[in-house]
Amino acid sequence: MSRNLRVAVVGAGPAGVYAADILTKSELPEGVSGVTVDLIERDPTPFGLIRYGVAPDHPRIKEIVKALKRVMANDDIRFFGNIAFGDDLKLDELRQFYDAVVFATGARRDRDLDIPGIDLDGSHGAADFVNWYDGHPDVDRDWDFQPHAESVAVLGVGNVGLDVSRILAKTAEELLVTEIPDNVYEGLKKNVTKDVHVFARRGPAQVKFTPMELRELSHSPTIDVIVHPEGFELDEGSLEALRAAKSQKLVVDVLQNYLAKEPTGAPHRIHIHFCQSPVEVLGEDGRVVGLRTEVTELDGTGNVRGTGEHIDWPVQAVYRAIGYYSDNLAGLPFDLATGTVPNDGGRVIEIDGSPLPGAYVTGWIKRGPVGLIGHTKSDAAQTVELLLSDVPNLQAPDSAEPEAFDAHLDSRGVQYTTWDGWEKLDAHELSLGEAHDHERERVKVVARDEMVRISRS
Ligand code: NAP
Repeated sequence: MSRNLRVAVVGAGPAGVYAADILTKSELPEGVSGVTVDLIERDPTPFGLIRYGVAPDHPRIKEIVKALKRVMANDDIRFFGNIAFGDDLKLDELRQFYDAVVFATGARRDRDLDIPGIDLDGSHGAADFVNWYDGHPDVDRDWDFQPHAESVAVLGVGNVGLDVSRILAKTAEELLVTEIPDNVYEGLKKNVTKDVHVFARRGPAQVKFTPMELRELSHSPTIDVIVHPEGFELDEGSLEALRAAKSQKLVVDVLQNYLAKEPTGAPHRIHIHFCQSPVEVLGEDGRVVGLRTEVTELDGTGNVRGTGEHIDWPVQAVYRAIGYYSDNLAGLPFDLATGTVPNDGGRVIEIDGSPLPGAYVTGWIKRGPVGLIGHTKSDAAQTVELLLSDVPNLQAPDSAEPEAFDAHLDSRGVQYTTWDGWEKLDAHELSLGEAHDHERERVKVVARDEMVRISRS
């Protein structure tokens, strides 16, 4: 007798939606007539990092939502938002309703940087700033822009470092046309940053920027990009890296163009410094007054060594953009060093090496917080293939009817949101944007209770 496979995907960001899509389109193993998927999301809205990670002035990347919406038009995929896994729902509970659970919870926190002074006021994690300017419901509405903070440091030369630098260097007016919420626009008006100093601990051939994002930095008329020549070295290891990767060569070409360019006199400057490793955030009366770096030199292998020479940079705020870190998931093993759930191609593995039956991972929680959104597709394909090959060994749920899960949530009083609810909120936010003389693309609603109220109305 054939049966329907029930799968819960925890996390409705791109990784989760791609997994749901691939699951419902895959060739099914013997004995399975169909697959239905429930996407279970902590936010009241779908799309995870696209809504709360992609910078508001990157509408091109946000266009990915169109493809994700087409996936969600499939009746075999449902959306349940505003449900916190671990608090509202545990793994054992999910097992009552699903054959398998795929975790696609991503990474939303900042990786720690263990240097003196990192906890001073004015020292921030990039992820916190991103969550603020993207209007995440769970963060404070106000950002701590100090009235005198004209020079700030950004640590790390990945695309998040670029996002943070750009948002700090742009004016509130430039960002008003995007989807930023009202509190973010008001907050940005208090930002007096003139100079953003971005620090790479290695050389130009080792930066993690991508060419398009780096080029785009100079598109704002209010920003000059200034690449400093000190540390702009290409040793044999660097040249080899450039020969091996065309995109890295493009990045270095863009950096070289900036290096050769005369500043235009724009009111804001983004400075890029190489071979400067952060060693201390300097403070006075509990607040940031500077950053101390150690000058490094390339060692020929793509790595650097310290030279013992230190430089103090007078900055009034520090943003560390040194990578994201995932949240530990209740009932699942967790590797603290990598910030991932231990797995073998997507099958969750216990600390003793045995598989955790019916539990899978995909996206950043599977392989760490690197790679562009599109990369999560191949990830999901690998996880789904393993899941489907495990079907003969999966324990069938006690309550396989889809309605049983809704009834369970209702009996627990969980105020979940649905796809219909998201469409209502989406329309509401777009109409708020239109009300502003068609100048604003959308105005995001920030308060969780308001989002839930509109979605469930
Ligand atoms: P990332 O690309 O891994 O960059 C992290 C940066 O932090 C690296 O330059 C790294 O330098 C540096 N770093 C790490 N530890 C450090 C330390 N102790 N001291 C100083 N520097 C340190 O991470 P990300 O910027 O968070 O981006 C995550 C992923 O999202 C990436 O794949 C990125 O491309 C993607 N993304 C894309 C966009 C877009 O617009 N397309 C926007 C945002 C993010 P080392 O290399 O020396 O370790």
